[in-house]
Amino acid sequence: EPALSIRGLTKEYGNGFQALKGIDLDVQQGDFFALLGPNGAGKSTTLGVVCSLVQKTQGQVSVFGIDIDKDFSKAKYQIGVVPQEFNFNQFEKVLDIVLAQAGYYGMTRREALPRAEQLLTDLGLWDKRNGSARMLSGGMKRRLMIARALMHRPKLLILDEPTAGVDIELRRSMWEYMRRINRDEGTTIILTTHYLEEAESLCRNIAIINHGEIVRNTSVRELLTEL
Ligand code: ADP
Ligand code: ADP
Repeated sequence: EPALSIRGLTKEYGNGFQALKGIDLDVQQGDFFALLGPNGAGKSTTLGVVCSLVQKTQGQVSVFGIDIDKDFSKAKYQIGVVPQEFNFNQFEKVLDIVLAQAGYYGMTRREALPRAEQLLTDLGLWDKRNGSARMLSGGMKRRLMIARALMHRPKLLILDEPTAGVDIELRRSMWEYMRRINRDEGTTIILTTHYLEEAESLCRNIAIINHGEIVRNTSVRELLTEL
């Protein structure tokens, strides 16, 4: 079964705005997938529905065959999310932020501590573990959210504009890290971006979304032959 399957997804916001107009999308297990489109296209809304942060109007969504309407509590264990906005408590310590996430997913402290050490080390944050998150730079905060999202070993990692506002050097190192978890751990990755270069450099498959509709769904290789 696919890592993610979306059928006939629509979203009308409370103000009557039709943000998604019937989206169909499949992302296969192990894929590195980009949802590309301009600001306001509906990327965050689509991912918000998958993570149950946004309530959909119509349609079906399943994650590894689990219908999110029927069993979101089970589906959520498969998903790690890196939202666009920093949504952790800035006054908490870095290590506590990732450990709290592990607790939330039912991991024991014994399991969580080595996992936290590994992730924070790989992401260059282990030295900062005892400091409060507000002392981190923007790029470090983003990496903290990646570490937090990976704590419970999700099979699907969803990143909303992971490198927005990140300088070129850090962007490259984040790309390298994402490639590594996709390649070495087989984690399926879906990211949104409005940079074609980012999709091109990282992803295998791509869906282009505009005005709430998927206008193209192809492999990156195929797309590049046309440009
Ligand atoms: P829902 O239909 O999902 O309940 P609402 O229309 O009630 O969503 O809006 C949820 C929140 O998003 C509100 O706080 C609202 O002010 C805010 N919001 C409204 N319009 C926009 C917009 N165009 N972009 C982003 N946020 C918006
Ligand atoms: P993207 O992630 O591609 O930039 P979004 O999914 O955030 O796009 O937004 C899609 C459209 O829905 C935009 O026009 C945005 O203004 C609108 N929108 C987003 N959130 C809300 C909301 N809560 N209420 C009303 N409109 C919204």
